[in-house]
Amino acid sequence: MLASRHGGDQRRIVVDWAGNLVWTRDCIVPSRPYGHKPDCDREACSAHSGEGLSRLTIRRDTTILREPDPSLAALIELAGSARTINAFTGAGISTESGIPDYRGPGGVWERNAPPTLSDFRENLETRRQYWEERRERYPALRDTQPNAGHLALARLQSGGRLSHVITQNIDGLHQKAGSDPERTIELHGTAHRVRCLDCGALWPAEQIQARLEREPLPSCELCGGLLRAATVLFGQAMPEDALRRAFTVARASDLMLVVGSSLVVQPAARVPQIAIASGARLAIVNNEPTPLDNLADVVVRLSAGAVLSALADALLDV
Ligand code: NAD
Ligand code: ZN
Repeated sequence: MLASRHGGDQRRIVVDWAGNLVWTRDCIVPSRPYGHKPDCDREACSAHSGEGLSRLTIRRDTTILREPDPSLAALIELAGSARTINAFTGAGISTESGIPDYRGPGGVWERNAPPTLSDFRENLETRRQYWEERRERYPALRDTQPNAGHLALARLQSGGRLSHVITQNIDGLHQKAGSDPERTIELHGTAHRVRCLDCGALWPAEQIQARLEREPLPSCELCGGLLRAATVLFGQAMPEDALRRAFTVARASDLMLVVGSSLVVQPAARVPQIAIASGARLAIVNNEPTPLDNLADVVVRLSAGAVLSALADALLDV
C-alpha cells in the first residue's frame, strides 16, 4: 500500500499499487501502536468502524510516497520469503520525528561535530556547555514521539515478522513505539539515562534533569566523578555486551533490513556486513547512497516511515 497526501493538509489517504483508493485500518498512535490517536475521528476511522476512510494526522515533514515504486515491491517480496528478519536502524529513522540526523543534508555533522570523550573529560568549558544544552534540550527529546517507521517495526515485531531491532540511535523511540525492550539492542547507549564516567553508576535522566535546576555542573553522588548521558562518544568503546548480542543476532538473520543509516560509523556498521558474511540477504532503506549499496539485494531510496508502513501492511496482511 502506498500513501499519498490529500489536498496538502495534514490528512492522508492510502492508495494501492494501481493508485486505487483503499481504506486504512490503523490509526497511528505514538505511544500506543494499536490504539487510536486521541484526536482520531471515530466516525470516519475504519479501524473503529470497519469501513470508511481513516483520517490520520501526520507530521508535515513526513515524506509520503506518491507513486508505486518497484524497489519497494522488491523489498516486500524479499521480506515475504525471509524467515528471520532483523532490523538495523540509524538516525535516519528518527528524522520524521523531528530529530536531525548526523550526516544527512542539514544534519548535525554539517553544523558542528560532537565532542570527543577526552575533550569532555579534560575541558571544563565543554562540560559546562554540555550540561547547559542538556538542561534546555532534554525535555524536547523526552517528549518526542515515534513516527510511522518506528511504529511499523514494532508492529512487525509483535506480529512475529521481525526478530530484533539493533539501533545506533540513543533516542529510545523504538521502545516508545512498542518494540520489545528485550529485543531492542542499543549499540550507542541511551540519552534517557545518565552515567558516572568514573564508577559507572546509572540514573534516570529525569532525576539528573531536576538536579540541573540548582547544580549547573552535576557530579556523581556516589564517587564525585563526572556525569554524562549514557551514550557512546567518539573515542569511547561501544558497550561490549550490546555489540556481542548484535553480532549474534546478525549471524542468525535471513534478511538484514537497514533503515536510515549512512553506514559509516564503525564498528556498528559491521553488523550488516556480518549478516551478509553469514549468508543473510541485505535490504537498505535510505534517502541517500551508502557504502554497502553494492552488496544489497534491494536498495529503497525513499523515506523510512512510508516504506516501513507499506512493508508492515504487506507482511501482516493488513
Ligand atoms: P547518519 O546521520 O550518519 O545517517 C543517517 C542517514 O539516514 C543519512 O544517510 C540520511 O540520508 C538518511 N535519512 C535521513 N532521514 C531519512 C528518512 N526519513 N528516510 C530514509 N533515510 C533517511 O546516521 P547513523 O548512520 O545512525 O550514524 C549517526 C550516529 O549518530 C549514530 O552513531 C547515532 O548514535 C548518532 N545519532 C543518533 C540520533 C538519534 O538517536 N536519533 C540522531 C543523530 C545522531
Ligand atoms: Zn561515580
